[in-house]
Amino acid sequence: MSVCQSCGACCASFRVDFHPAELAGGAYAWGEGVPAELTVPVTPAIVRMRGTDGAAPRCVALAGEVGVAVNCTIYDGRPSPCREFDTEHAACARARQRCGLPPLSAPPASG
Ligand code: SF4
Ligand code: SF4
Repeated sequence: MSVCQSCGACCASFRVDFHPAELAGGAYAWGEGVPAELTVPVTPAIVRMRGTDGAAPRCVALAGEVGVAVNCTIYDGRPSPCREFDTEHAACARARQRCGLPPLSAPPASG
């Protein structure tokens, strides 16, 4: 299991905005694309993953428990911001901290 499969903090921390062309049936859809009903329109050129814009964001496509075991239910068709984000991203540590998870580089606790 990858570290991300026991985390999910970034899916529960940030707005996830992308171009509607990545929606299912769109010209730039990855795989089957993002089902439109999982998004909300923001502008004619921006849609947002439902649930990611709030005081306690959580993407509607995220299944499981953050910090324990999670998976993206639309993984093959997830939008470009999710594809570009990984553990090398500076915002990864911020997301983990926000969700009460230790930084990935932390040494194992002694004792
Ligand atoms: S916050 Fe970092 S470790 Fe957690 S799921 Fe996102 S990329 Fe993976
Ligand atoms: S679409 Fe998937 S990878 Fe992207 S924020 Fe939602 S649950 Fe996370």
